[in-house]
Amino acid sequence: GKRKILLCGGGNAIHVLTSYIGSRTDCDVAIFSTFPGEANRIRDAIPDEGIHCVNDLGEEKYGKPVQVSDKADDVVPGSDVIILAIPSFTHKLYLKAVAPFVQPGVIIGAMPGEGGFDLCARYVLGSDFVDQSNLFALETLPWACRIVEYGKRVEVLGTKKEIDVGISDGKNNSAKSVLDLLQQLIGPLPILKPACNFLAVTLMNINSVWHPTISYAFYRNWDGQPFDEPPLFYYGAEEFTGEKLAKVSDEVLSIRTKIQEKYPDLDLSSLHHVREWMLTSYGDDIGDKSSIHTMLKTNKGYRGLTHPTREIRADDGTRKFMPNFQYRYFTEDVPMGLCVTRGIAELAGVPTPNIDDVIMWCQGVMNKEYLVDGKFVGHDIPSTCSPQAYGFVNLDDFLRANKYISP
Ligand code: NAD
Repeated sequence: GKRKILLCGGGNAIHVLTSYIGSRTDCDVAIFSTFPGEANRIRDAIPDEGIHCVNDLGEEKYGKPVQVSDKADDVVPGSDVIILAIPSFTHKLYLKAVAPFVQPGVIIGAMPGEGGFDLCARYVLGSDFVDQSNLFALETLPWACRIVEYGKRVEVLGTKKEIDVGISDGKNNSAKSVLDLLQQLIGPLPILKPACNFLAVTLMNINSVWHPTISYAFYRNWDGQPFDEPPLFYYGAEEFTGEKLAKVSDEVLSIRTKIQEKYPDLDLSSLHHVREWMLTSYGDDIGDKSSIHTMLKTNKGYRGLTHPTREIRADDGTRKFMPNFQYRYFTEDVPMGLCVTRGIAELAGVPTPNIDDVIMWCQGVMNKEYLVDGKFVGHDIPSTCSPQAYGFVNLDDFLRANKYISP
């Protein structure tokens, strides 16, 4: 029979997945969205031929869901594979909604699995459930993609070349068979490579390094005046930006080194410096590979992308732009990104002065408190996805409870 693939959400990524998977004859796609009004909106918008996706590889696909609903009891039962392709602050919400209608042994995961999807799944579904099921977490989304017309048309601007995926064995399927299945569903690119484990995926989170650090580097000397145009995000990077990114990434790697010294059997070898990540993900899309700074500025995939801004009117009526510190580069990539890494560093006893610089600046513009006097003890920690938010206060408990090392 056909496999039932349940897609949770209704944004850019879900449009691409609906088109890709819905175009296959061996799968039925269903969409589950709890976002108010979204299920109706998407159902009403999709034409008979399905959602049209054009990608940067020159392919065109049309795919249609067999079912779209905001009610878990309608749409979740019978799902063989459940894919969450939504911002990570909604993971808990969707996992709670599907939990009553899924059985241990299901294939369930997130793209991207930012912020420790496995921790969230253990918390919501329970450790026994997770141990029997195939959990998966992609280190990033396979594509840069944007909806062109809601429910009708979506564009893949850039397909990544290769990405790491954390996958666990379950009682029904091996990790290898799930990796093969996911590869079939997304198509030949990007190539999905097994990560050593979920911890490596969590620490590899590129958005958590790129977005807060590049923003910090750009705004650190900002005079507070509005911009005439939204400033370029990657192409506007300075040498300082590249150097800071390198130092932040060095600190992530010193977490790896420290953990591996203490636990030689815990493999974190798929965790790389952002320099290598950039080369494997974008390859020849990058013009000048001499430094992180030049790679940011000559990566075709980053061309034209701007800092998130809000439009305002100047006194003379002209359009101006102010930074939008409410955007996911902050609201997602700090609490579900860099703070997760910072929390793991805290448990491992690794100093992270550069990560701290970035978090301190971000928490200021976000009006949050994560760090206090260089300690990860701020009152907004419970709203992060850090180990501390799940109650972990020592490295050993954290690694054992999440099965990164044997219990
Ligand atoms: P999106 O912003 O389009 O997703 C929004 C969707 O999330 C909504 O349509 C809704 O279905 C769901 N949602 C949001 N808030 C909700 C709420 N309160 N209750 C219920 N549902 C809610 O995101 P996207 O562009 O599809 O990206 C998905 C993930 O991939 C994000 O984490 C994003 O950071 C990451 N990502 C996206 C891109 C890209 O090019 N689009 C690239 C890299 C990474």
